[in-house]
Amino acid sequence: MTLNRRLFLGTAVAAAGALAAPMVRAQGKPRVVVVGGGAGGATAARYIAKDSDGAIDVTLIEPSRTLPYDRLILSPGIDFVDDAVPGWSVASQNAMPHAYKGGSQTELLKAQIMAMPQGGTFAMVAPPNPYRCPPGPYERVSMVAHALKESNPTAKILILDPKPGFSKQALFEDGWSRHYSGMVERIGPDFGGENVSVNPDEMTVDIDGMVQKVDVCNVIPAQKAGHIAEVAGLTEDNWAPVNAADLSSTMDENIHILGVGRSPRSDLRGIHRLVSSHHGRHVRRELSFEPWPFWPGTPIARILQ
Ligand SMILES: Cc1cc2nc3c(=O)[nH]c(=O)nc-3n(C[C@H](O)[C@H](O)[C@H](O)COP(=O)(O)OP(=O)(O)OC[C@H]3O[C@@H](n4cnc5c(N)ncnc54)[C@H](O)[C@@H]3O)c2cc1C
Repeated sequence: MTLNRRLFLGTAVAAAGALAAPMVRAQGKPRVVVVGGGAGGATAARYIAKDSDGAIDVTLIEPSRTLPYDRLILSPGIDFVDDAVPGWSVASQNAMPHAYKGGSQTELLKAQIMAMPQGGTFAMVAPPNPYRCPPGPYERVSMVAHALKESNPTAKILILDPKPGFSKQALFEDGWSRHYSGMVERIGPDFGGENVSVNPDEMTVDIDGMVQKVDVCNVIPAQKAGHIAEVAGLTEDNWAPVNAADLSSTMDENIHILGVGRSPRSDLRGIHRLVSSHHGRHVRRELSFEPWPFWPGTPIARILQ
């Protein structure tokens, strides 16, 4: 069996050309390049390196490096759909944080919540489906309510939601009414939640024509696969279609995609952490030319049944 070796450029714009570059014969150990050092990419890299006992070179990269590869694992996380919330753009993320990727945005949102005036209003513009971590926005609302109950008990939380329903809705709403009675209000699509725009300069939200002043506004826009997957030509309808068995791209079998893929059988984005260690073992076995076993009883086997 001949290994394919391609060239990957860590810079997103160059990636489209690089992924389509002519293949050359591999020399030395097989090489796996993992793009993205978040939970998915780091887990895959760790298990491939550990399970192969050094037989495979594994390189984990963040942006701006150029490397050849035999197999590529893309785990770039999400990006936001442009103009998804009228009035909001990444340029206004400090006034109205998204806090939906790691890093300083989460700290900023926390600081803004803690600085709210007594009796102030925290608004969340929730995303449409599909998006990273379906219960995430509502878990966040619960945590904000928990913090405000201590420090700012007359504050209000307003959820502006374009979806008719959301993950574990009954459970969340029961908890909110029992623990934070009167604090949390959700405006769904029937009452204007799907027609929301924001003004970060004025700190206002416009809900189907009704303008309201808020003190903190967490805008979580519509989402898509990380930019590099898009410019590499690996996406359809904003996400990256993958084969359910091994998370290989349906567009390029030498590229495996974590966290932002779609399959006809199941949406693996939300559970990629669970499967990524097994996924890494799959890549390892292929590169080592070992037979590929099916793991009855393992989480991925159960998921794919
Ligand atoms: C509020 C909230 C709650 C959540 N709760 C849960 C939960 O309870 N359970 C759960 O499983 N998940 C949860 N998630 C989702 C969780 O964030 C993801 O499961 C996890 O972080 C995704 O890991 P990832 O590696 O796919 O992406 P990320 O962690 O986003 O990592 C992507 C990495 O790729 C890098 N990158 C991007 N482009 C390039 C490029 N061109 N070149 C090189 N590197 C690049 C980025 O710098 C980043 O480091 C939650 C998310 C949020 C926002």
